[in-house]
Amino acid sequence: MLNSIRKIIQSVNAAKDLQTALDLIVHQVRRSMRADVCSVYLHFPQTNNFILMATEGLNQAALKIALSADQGLVGLVASRSEPINLEDAASHPNYRYIEATGEEQFCGFLGVPIIHHRKVLGTLIIQQRCKRSFTEDEEALLITTSAQLAGIIAHAEATGGGLRRDVLADDQSINIVYTGVSRSGGVAIGQVVIMAPPADLETVPDRPCVDPEQEVAAFQIALNAVRRKIKVVGRTLARILKGQEHELFEVYMRMLDDNALAGEVIQHIRQGQWAQGALRRVVEVHVTAFEIMDDPYLRERATDIRDLGRRVLAELQQSGTQHLEFPASTVLVAQEASAAMLGEVPPHKLKAIVSITGSSNSHAAILARSMGIPTVMGAVDFPYTRLEGKEVIIDGYNGHIYRNASHELRQHYQKIVAEEASFVKEATALRDLPAMTLDQRSISLFVNTSLPLDVPRSLDKGAEGVGLYRTEVPFMLKEHFPSEQEQVSCYRIYLQGFAPRPVIMRTLDIGGDKSLPYFPIEEDNPFLGWRGIRVTLDHPEILLVQLRAMLKASAGFNNLRIMLPMITHIAEIEEARHWLDQAYTEVIDEGYELQRPPIGVMIEIPATVYQARQIAKKVDFISVGSNDLTQYLLAVDRDNAQVAELYHAYHPVVLAALQHVALAAKSVRIPVSICGELAGDPGGALLLIAMGYDILSMNSVNIPRIKSVIRNMHFSQAKTMLKLAMQQQDASGVKKIVQQTLHKVGITQAHSFVMRD
Ligand code: PEP
Ligand code: MG
Repeated sequence: MLNSIRKIIQSVNAAKDLQTALDLIVHQVRRSMRADVCSVYLHFPQTNNFILMATEGLNQAALKIALSADQGLVGLVASRSEPINLEDAASHPNYRYIEATGEEQFCGFLGVPIIHHRKVLGTLIIQQRCKRSFTEDEEALLITTSAQLAGIIAHAEATGGGLRRDVLADDQSINIVYTGVSRSGGVAIGQVVIMAPPADLETVPDRPCVDPEQEVAAFQIALNAVRRKIKVVGRTLARILKGQEHELFEVYMRMLDDNALAGEVIQHIRQGQWAQGALRRVVEVHVTAFEIMDDPYLRERATDIRDLGRRVLAELQQSGTQHLEFPASTVLVAQEASAAMLGEVPPHKLKAIVSITGSSNSHAAILARSMGIPTVMGAVDFPYTRLEGKEVIIDGYNGHIYRNASHELRQHYQKIVAEEASFVKEATALRDLPAMTLDQRSISLFVNTSLPLDVPRSLDKGAEGVGLYRTEVPFMLKEHFPSEQEQVSCYRIYLQGFAPRPVIMRTLDIGGDKSLPYFPIEEDNPFLGWRGIRVTLDHPEILLVQLRAMLKASAGFNNLRIMLPMITHIAEIEEARHWLDQAYTEVIDEGYELQRPPIGVMIEIPATVYQARQIAKKVDFISVGSNDLTQYLLAVDRDNAQVAELYHAYHPVVLAALQHVALAAKSVRIPVSICGELAGDPGGALLLIAMGYDILSMNSVNIPRIKSVIRNMHFSQAKTMLKLAMQQQDASGVKKIVQQTLHKVGITQAHSFVMRD
């Protein structure tokens, strides 16, 4: 059975489009299960019916026939969301006879739903002329196939190859929303500009070419460059390998022949396709042809062709055939946005970023946050390849992308865009005013930073200090561990820039999803693995250099505070303190004059919430990393769009943990701050103030907004809100309470980072 499944999956994955995939599925499933009929029906939500999209065994004339969702066995399979296995379908009360299918001849029936992300996309049905009770194994095979098929249908729809599109005419439906993960807050309305990575064939869009001969010439230049490079590599390798392997390069060269791939690409260009699009089309066809071959050697050739395609594409893109026009409100969309791509858009035109893949620690995300550009990543269902030039709304707070927005929705977001613009204007006026409630309760607003460009921006916005400097970022941007002197120069920018304001520098926090290109950490479960302080305590040579650099950089300013990430055990604090003592003594011995900096820890692991009081006694301050704390309390990967709806810092348990930590810090009279995203959310900020947090640290763009909210509230209102919030049983209950309170001070709902709908 495994072999049948493997074969089905392989051939379906290699299919050039969804219709071919469905045809292959019905053919192969019918054959491997020795059934008389196999059919796929897809669900069309607008008309709420099921349409026969592929069949083998029923009349082909019945294709596209529509069955009402509330009738018949097909509808029953979908509504029950489980397999239905009937020896004699005709005797079932839900059985409906449909003449066009020629169905009267069939008795045995096994139907399974095709489900993606809780939505029934369709049904996969097999039937038998005579009575037949399908076995459990057969049922399992059909379920396995339908689970695979669900992913393929969803992907096809996301990338523009869906079949439901034409009938659904979803281009006409309004307020279509796609969900990803918020990487940078803010809201923008703009036009999609698709940027293909230097060599990612899959994301190259179709585009007409204006001058085919010019495109052919560009393609030839790229091709020759690749030929030259392969020859060089081939010669070098031939010397080393001496075996058959270097023959691979001969094969490569032959593939690039004018009679092979190249000739076909040129043909496509002359038919009006731009060079990159033509290359993608030709490579796709050949890759598909090789991938479905049974012979493993030949299957591997698909990899060679794809590789060659990418090489030629890289050359083509260097040759600048990708001429992009950037409208005044550009929404940059890429499969995997890179920092370089951001740099290609004129800054005043870049309004938002959508990256289909990419983590919060990608260079693009880091840069986007620093620049204050709304960013959504991980929206895998966003069908961007067919949306170039189309208007979309990016809600960076909630990780949502809207297209075909209704007048009302557009107005709603336009209002937020306008409000945010007014916050930017107000920022200067607010800059020197305290973050103080109407009843005189004040709080410090600090900034989270990772790039030097944050320094002037944060000061402009009125940051009173740095609450979190993510030192791993400069490490990530290098090709080796930065030297002590390099680190001193880098850290001094912040310490000097902010002096006399305090700067909390966090020791290297790598691991999890943050890796260094020159220090790979490969683990099965990285978020529960070698992260943060665990790495640096195992590598005191790295930690000591960093601590010495921080200390030296603070000479003359004495505004340094050192913070330890991912503390789990009290012993880790003691060990880190030991290394800090050593670093301090060494630096003093070198003749530096400086005070010993305060040391603090991050509370981001649930265990430390329960030990917060003991920990607080050991350090000078504590700071809650609510991003990780939420992730670990709720067991939800903060970077995974699939479970984004479950990640909610408003969860009452998260709030209870935050309150507990604040009280623990208060009981030993040390300052307590928070540096997770919750601090930059208006509702979150008010809850935290009510809990007694002294410092809220956030991205600089949020500072004016949070200050404005605080200045329009009474502390007593925040206290009441917290009390009510704590009585809720889930995040949506808390959200309602927060919304009601914010509404009173005129804050729009979508201003909230964590108020996911
Ligand atoms: C956090 O976990 O909340 C935090 C601020 O640290 P980081 O986001 O860098 O993991
Ligand atoms: Mg963290």
